[in-house]
Amino acid sequence: MTTRILIVEDEPAICEMLTFALSDSGYRCEVAGDVRQARSLVADSNPDLVVLDWMLPGQSGIEFARELKRDAGTRDIPVIMLTARAQEADVVSGLDAGADDYITKPFSPRELAARIKAVLRRASPHAVGAELEVDGLRLDPVGHRVLAGETELKVGPTEFRLLQFLMAHPERVYSRSQLIDQVWGRNVYIEERTVDVHVRRLREALAPASKDRLVQTVRGAGYRLSAKD
Ligand code: CA
Repeated sequence: MTTRILIVEDEPAICEMLTFALSDSGYRCEVAGDVRQARSLVADSNPDLVVLDWMLPGQSGIEFARELKRDAGTRDIPVIMLTARAQEADVVSGLDAGADDYITKPFSPRELAARIKAVLRRASPHAVGAELEVDGLRLDPVGHRVLAGETELKVGPTEFRLLQFLMAHPERVYSRSQLIDQVWGRNVYIEERTVDVHVRRLREALAPASKDRLVQTVRGAGYRLSAKD
C-alpha cells in the first residue's frame, strides 16, 4: 500500500522539489496551494500524512493544523509543519496546534524524508511493515500472509490490499469511492461495484476462520472493519 502524502505549500518551487524528492522515496504526493484546496483533498483522499507550510495565502497552516486535530475523522493524520521561522516560540505554538513534528526552511528533502519516516512509524506502524491484528486475525505485510491462529488464509492480492487498509483503520466507515482511492489509487478508473466484488471475495477468504463477520457493510455508507457486531 503506497503511503500518500498531502503537501500544502504555496511556493511552486518548493512543491516541485518536495514532490520530486518524496515520489523518489516511494510516496505518492498530492499538492494543495492553500487551505481550502487542502481541506477538500483531505476529505477526498484521506492522506497518510500532511506536510503543511505555516505561511499560506488566506488561512494559515497552523489554523489548518488545529482544524485537522479538532475533527475526529482527521485527528490521527500526522502533520509535519514547514516553517521559515526558527524562533522557539513559533515552534512551540506549532506543536501546540497539534503538529507531530516541524522542520525549518531551508531544509534538505532527505532530512524531510527521514522525518516523515519517523513520524509515520510513530503514527501508523502498518506503514512500515508491522503486523496488524484485529480480533485474532493477523496480517503480516512483509511476509504477505493472513493468519487466524495457526491457520493461513488464502487471500488474493487485491483482497490483501483491501484487508490491509481496513485493518490499519478499524472501526471507521469508508465509502466505495474512498476505498477505490486508497486501495486502487486515485488515477485508476474502477467502478464502485468492483469494490463489492472484492469485498465478497475477501469475506469468502476469511470465512474458513469465521473472520468474514469482521468485514461489515454499513448500509448507505460503505464498509468497515470491526470486531464489534
Ligand atoms: Ca508559504
